[in-house]
Amino acid sequence: MNVHGPHPVAGRAWLGYLGAGLVAIAVYYAIPREGLGVGARVVMYCLTSASAAVVVVSVALRRRDGARLPWLLLGLGQVVYSIADSTFYVLHYLLDRTGYPSPADAFYLGHYPLTVAALLLFVRRRTPGRDLPSALDASVLAVVAAMLSWLYLIGPRARLDQPVVVTIATVAYPVMDLAMLAVAIRLFMGSGKRPGAFVLLSANLLAILTADTLYVLQQLNGTFQAGNYLDAIWLGGNLALGAAALHPAMGAVAEPTAVRENVLGPARLAALCAAALVAPAMLVVQHATGRFHDVPVIAAACATLFGLVIARLAALVADQRRLAITDALTGLHTRRFFVAQLPIEVERARRSGGSVAVFIADVDRFKSINDGHGHPAGDRVLAEIADRLRRAARAGDVVARYGGEEFALLVPGAGPGELTAIAQRLRDAVADRPIAATDTLWLPATVSVGAACYPEHGGDPAEVIAAADRSLYAAKLAGRDRVVVGTTHADCEPAMLDHLCRVADQVDRKQRAPHSSRAVARWTRLLALELGHDERAAHIAELAGRLHDIGKIVVPDAVLSKPSALDPEEWRVVRQHADHGFRLADTLPGFFPVAQAIRQHHERYDGSGYPQGLAGGAIRWEARLIAVCDVWAAMLTERPYRPARTVDEARRELRAGRGTRYDPDVVDLFLDLHAGGRIDSPGRVPG
Ligand code: GH3
Ligand code: MG
Ligand code: MG
Repeated sequence: MNVHGPHPVAGRAWLGYLGAGLVAIAVYYAIPREGLGVGARVVMYCLTSASAAVVVVSVALRRRDGARLPWLLLGLGQVVYSIADSTFYVLHYLLDRTGYPSPADAFYLGHYPLTVAALLLFVRRRTPGRDLPSALDASVLAVVAAMLSWLYLIGPRARLDQPVVVTIATVAYPVMDLAMLAVAIRLFMGSGKRPGAFVLLSANLLAILTADTLYVLQQLNGTFQAGNYLDAIWLGGNLALGAAALHPAMGAVAEPTAVRENVLGPARLAALCAAALVAPAMLVVQHATGRFHDVPVIAAACATLFGLVIARLAALVADQRRLAITDALTGLHTRRFFVAQLPIEVERARRSGGSVAVFIADVDRFKSINDGHGHPAGDRVLAEIADRLRRAARAGDVVARYGGEEFALLVPGAGPGELTAIAQRLRDAVADRPIAATDTLWLPATVSVGAACYPEHGGDPAEVIAAADRSLYAAKLAGRDRVVVGTTHADCEPAMLDHLCRVADQVDRKQRAPHSSRAVARWTRLLALELGHDERAAHIAELAGRLHDIGKIVVPDAVLSKPSALDPEEWRVVRQHADHGFRLADTLPGFFPVAQAIRQHHERYDGSGYPQGLAGGAIRWEARLIAVCDVWAAMLTERPYRPARTVDEARRELRAGRGTRYDPDVVDLFLDLHAGGRIDSPGRVPG
């Protein structure tokens, strides 16, 4: 491309050509129509139309880029067109052969395929991918044009009583014009630059189509006169084509541009609406004039239009969906898609007893890339990292941009044994070689990766993500550029768990209810198994039952053993034990699910509990079991402020809280198990 712009004279050549051409048209109309004047007019006309052919072909031949072929085809079309003009005038005026069709018509018709091919090439060059919406919109207009053309141009001519060859020739013109119009509309409705050359080319097409249509109409009602004003339109059209080729931006007509995302603007919408209404309007016209022979054609047009509108809608919906789930910078899935996909995969794994792995990769010290080299350089690095992660993933994995410089990978079927290898693969893929931040600057980049999987590190999607996030945090803390895999409660140091159990025993003693937390743990485990949970889940529930009150270790003894009612401040302190218990338990690796159940064991089924006011199924199932077991143990134990309840009183009270304080199904199950003698005494000393 010439960075200094076109040569000043060459830049205005198109204007000079257009001016000279308009003078030529004026001279053409000034020449008398008899005697020698006829010859002079013919020469004037043919020279003008031939000049456009010469200009377009010679300009096209000088190009070496994608603009060459389409412009050359246009030029050749114009060559054939001007041969047609010369043949017509020589036959008509000089030899006085006015028969129809004549050899001139063969040339006139022959120019259309070349022009249509040229326009199709322009369309392809301008939008190398698919631009389905524009194609559909153009089809709507083309269908309406075809219908009108049939109603007013092709149909009437086809119905005329004339020799077959005449019918073929007369019908061929509007059919060819229609083909040209359809491609021209497509060219016009597609994306791409619209420089002066494009406007001139459009003027050429518009002029030829208008003059051709008027010509057919004049032929039909017998008003056509050779040499009338239509010649000015035809010649003007030819001049516009020549000027378009001379225009400095003629190459840009064939330049590719990205497809615009939203092409359904108000103007286009209005045009499509108006076009679609033409078909019913034509039915009204037929009804009013009492001539119904075109109804099948109009019906077919209506049906086609409906089909096109539905296809357009479907494409729009698909487009919107694609946009919503695709990140613009990296082309990866969005976080929205990732968090929608995870529960589906977790549910699938739950049903089949399989696993789902989640990896979160965060670019190390990414801010320094932005700060040191600018945001655009940062963007380029992010896009490349995304590409490398995508290549490191396998078919069926979901790779998403999870945050600014955070990426997430979802691997269905991957279990705890595979986490390290997959995470390592992601890390190696990114660190493999430096990344081009600008055309001349390569920067090394690394990621830290946190990994976790269902069901080992979390029992639901949020827990798995939280576990992966904690692992990522640990990887950052440990120095970055490394992989940390989630821990399970099975990996936990036995000494740490022992310590928390001793805290639970200490709380039991503070409350004068020795062994109570062990009883809650036993009953919770029994309920979990009775409810159909597996051994692993029952174990988590049991641990949560054992540790449910450890938060009370920070509540002063005086409050816990106070014989009278607590004042509001004392209540506030007691109620904090749920959150304290959560924090204590969450210090153990892999104990997040246990800690969550501890935090929620004072939530009530109707939402009136604490600390979060959760209700119904929003409360973890383990916590709903613990709530019942906990109150049972408390009721049967003497407290400083009240004596122990009898078993019957306790049963009544539990039943009274059914559906309000407690999960009704859990109450029913507990009372059944109790009636069956399977709930032992809270004070039982473990053997
Ligand atoms: P760490 O190793 O702790 O992850 O350090 P860091 O610098 O990567 O982390 P931090 O979260 O402090 O910074 C992340 C930076 O990522 C801050 C933000 O400006 C940048 N960022 C987020 N989204 C984009 C983006 O789309 N393009 C660019 N260029 N930068 C982004
Ligand atoms: Mg970072
Ligand atoms: Mg970050």
